[in-house]
Amino acid sequence: MSQDIVASVSDLSLDNAEPEVRRSAKSKRPTRAFHSFAGNAAQASPTTNMYAFQANYQTPKMNDNAGVFTPKNFNGSKLASPAPMASPGPFGMPMSPAPVGSPRLYGADYGNPNAAPDSTSSYIIPSHRWEEQNLFLTKAYDAVRDVVPPLPTTQYYASDNGICDPRLMQLSMNMIPSDQHIRSATKLPLGVTIQPFATTIPNEVPSSGEINGGEQQVQGSAEGPMRCKRCRCYINPKFQFTYDSKAVCNICQIKQQAPYDYSSAIGPNGQRTDAEIRPELSRGAVDFIVPMTYNRLPEKATRPLHYVFLIDVSTLANENGSSLAVVDGIRSSIDYIIENQPKCKVAIIAYDNKLKFFNLKPELETAQEYDVNELDDVFLPFYQGLFVNPSESKHVIDDTLNRLSSFITNDKYYHVPQVCFGSAVQAAELALETFTEGEGGKIICSLNSLPTVGNGNLYLRKDNAHLHHIKCDNDFYKKLTSDLMTKYIAIDLFVTSGGFVDMANVGHPTLATHGSLKYYPHFVQQNDEFKLVNDMVSTIANTVGYQGILKLRCSTGLAVDMYYNEATGYSDRDVTLPILTKDTTIDVLLKYQEKLKSGTSMSFQAALLYTDVHGVRKVRSLNSSALVSSNVREIFKRVNQNSVLRIMIKDVIRTLGDCDFPKIRKSIDNKLVDILTQYRGLVSGNSSSQLVLPESLKTLPSYMLSFQKQDLMVPNQQSTRGNDRMYDLIRYQSMSPAELLYKLYPQIVPLHVLLEEQDLSFYDANDKLLQVEKSSLEEVSVRNMHANFTDGGCYLIFNGDRIFLWFNPHTNRLLIQDLLGIDPDFPINQITLFGGVLPETSTEINGKVLNLIKYWGQMVNKTTLPVIPLRPNIDQYYSYVMGHILCEDKSINMVESGDNYILSLHRQIQEKIKKEDYIKISNKSQNDDIHQKFVQF
Ligand SMILES: [Zn+2]
Repeated sequence: MSQDIVASVSDLSLDNAEPEVRRSAKSKRPTRAFHSFAGNAAQASPTTNMYAFQANYQTPKMNDNAGVFTPKNFNGSKLASPAPMASPGPFGMPMSPAPVGSPRLYGADYGNPNAAPDSTSSYIIPSHRWEEQNLFLTKAYDAVRDVVPPLPTTQYYASDNGICDPRLMQLSMNMIPSDQHIRSATKLPLGVTIQPFATTIPNEVPSSGEINGGEQQVQGSAEGPMRCKRCRCYINPKFQFTYDSKAVCNICQIKQQAPYDYSSAIGPNGQRTDAEIRPELSRGAVDFIVPMTYNRLPEKATRPLHYVFLIDVSTLANENGSSLAVVDGIRSSIDYIIENQPKCKVAIIAYDNKLKFFNLKPELETAQEYDVNELDDVFLPFYQGLFVNPSESKHVIDDTLNRLSSFITNDKYYHVPQVCFGSAVQAAELALETFTEGEGGKIICSLNSLPTVGNGNLYLRKDNAHLHHIKCDNDFYKKLTSDLMTKYIAIDLFVTSGGFVDMANVGHPTLATHGSLKYYPHFVQQNDEFKLVNDMVSTIANTVGYQGILKLRCSTGLAVDMYYNEATGYSDRDVTLPILTKDTTIDVLLKYQEKLKSGTSMSFQAALLYTDVHGVRKVRSLNSSALVSSNVREIFKRVNQNSVLRIMIKDVIRTLGDCDFPKIRKSIDNKLVDILTQYRGLVSGNSSSQLVLPESLKTLPSYMLSFQKQDLMVPNQQSTRGNDRMYDLIRYQSMSPAELLYKLYPQIVPLHVLLEEQDLSFYDANDKLLQVEKSSLEEVSVRNMHANFTDGGCYLIFNGDRIFLWFNPHTNRLLIQDLLGIDPDFPINQITLFGGVLPETSTEINGKVLNLIKYWGQMVNKTTLPVIPLRPNIDQYYSYVMGHILCEDKSINMVESGDNYILSLHRQIQEKIKKEDYIKISNKSQNDDIHQKFVQF
């Protein structure tokens, strides 16, 4: 069964229809499966099935309990497999009688990152995702032994033996080119991706220091953690201590006296004997609790986070039901804060053509509203009771929210269509500045229409294709943004209408302050309320701190070229992060300052100074390292596609310029051709006529092609600054690596195919690793093409933000009954999923789907993901959504299909190779001073 698909991959066959017709027989066959495919009756005959059942009965099952990770037996250093999949592994877990690296299935290098990169590789994303997940069922990631970190769409256990979990910080190249010339010969960026609060498995970053007189002592006493006297980096496992109490810094190599109270005996191995009890000496990721000298105002105590809820209650927001949904969202958010962030304070302000402040003082019995009509020069009508502890004032908050609901629902006569968005944000800013003395906070704001009264009026009433840029061009919003930045205030914006709101301007403060933007273009209360409430609670639940400043330090020879950060103008200045969430991710481009010595190790330390939501000042220190080499083959083998992809995309965004999208797309193509030509010319050799993708970058072209089809890149004949484009643009700043990959290439999982008992069940006791039997890989890996959708099929689709359940009138009703508990006679067009929740029906398929939803949610840090029906000819959003899901088809803007794209890259590479048009390493002397200007799009 597998030869055909391999043949089609190897030959780059474009016959898309083939693989979906092919079915393999399965052991466990639910009744519904017999009715699924009118055209496939022969393949799905019970006879074949019986045969398969017997054959499979003998197969050793992979989840032998002896090897299952559980919290009890998880110990990173023990679990890390010494030779990834080269042998059956230390756990006695053969995946099946066939060798794991079965050479003809899904590309030759399956499961073995160390295999020679010259073989034909699968560039198919869906297969790659499941294969990699399967690989990490039986091994933990080991930063020392494994050549590249897993993709963000893979769940894995990782140990921290002095190098932090790659989810927290990862390099784009795990082997550092020894000089700029070799780096440029790869055409790849040398950079770092930092997600300081990514959820890791196991999920713990140890603290070093003292909290409120706790037992753990601050090392380095009142001065805070030990730091290098010269480069100011924080103590980390790569500091070397000598017998005479000196320490050598791993970043700048300076030898210095260790503080008197921070000395320790040195063991025979040269390690300090206290390394095991001091996390900063043994772990790559650590939180230092720091003394008051690290506070923004060193003489003042820090505060827990302050939230301001800002609600648009203008006519249109009330009419489409969004303002009511926002009130519900605030109610749920405040409940969450009471439960989980009990020290935080909240304020509530509503606005239309005036500002409505609410006094929430706990002594009050009912809410008091103060209206302010002076919008040009906003002021606070009262002080006491503006910010309150939500638990103490719960009854007043409830009354306020009830009053707002009643105003929205009943007082239609008083509704006004204008919104004073700019003045409202200024009011929230003033409130935070006054109450926190400039310590900062977070504004959560809804907006339903273009601001037309008060400060920050916008006059561009509709989208305009004549403006050839998408930058913020309104002085008020530029000034507002810089004010918010200096006061450490972030703003999350919830846009609840598809009407033009000039997001390039109103969204600019959100973009720069690292807030999150949510957009509900066709807000319908029934469909979107659950999503909005959920998004609002998520933005609070994912908040881990505020008032952050991030700095990356590297060993001598390398330095930060730029942080991809709008607010600092893509410079090398430290990044200010007014708000920090689990998703906050910063990409960094590095530059060479001198030639590096092959064989030496380069250290990287990202230090993030921040205040956690409860008001504790900390420094999160993330440490990693990599060896230097001048061997291009080794360098290519250790390229980390995820970080490369992110930096390529961030670089496109940085240089969007006049929005000439055809030109930008061409430059992306050229970039990919350059990279792959260099690989071909320098590593894989010229002899083969087949396309050879480096194993480490095999799905990069598919992801970059999909990026070219995103809303951001749609040609701008009619539109430059439309909501869709701007929303897409701003999201790239706040998306975590996992969300980005699912957005670029949504994952489609067919539910109508025959699944094994183990398929889509959790492998480990912690419910983190989802497994698919090897024999089912082909079935569950659906490429995102229209031709791969089967009439009568049923698919679960995840785009990083929402889950869609695809079915049509021919879908087996028994399957829908098992899945949703809906009677087979119930009309298909009337099926709804109340509140976006999949009901629990206790059937096998329902259980599998719930597992899948949980798995995806964990990957993108969401406790709930809405499930939305997706039915052709029934759901109005069907075409729009499918247009984004089917990213391998030729787009309506004629961007190439996946297979054709690969073929076209192949042709261009061959041309260049024939002309010897690539950088050769021997040209070295002439090119020594090439500066790393990576992607000049
Ligand atoms: Zn130093």
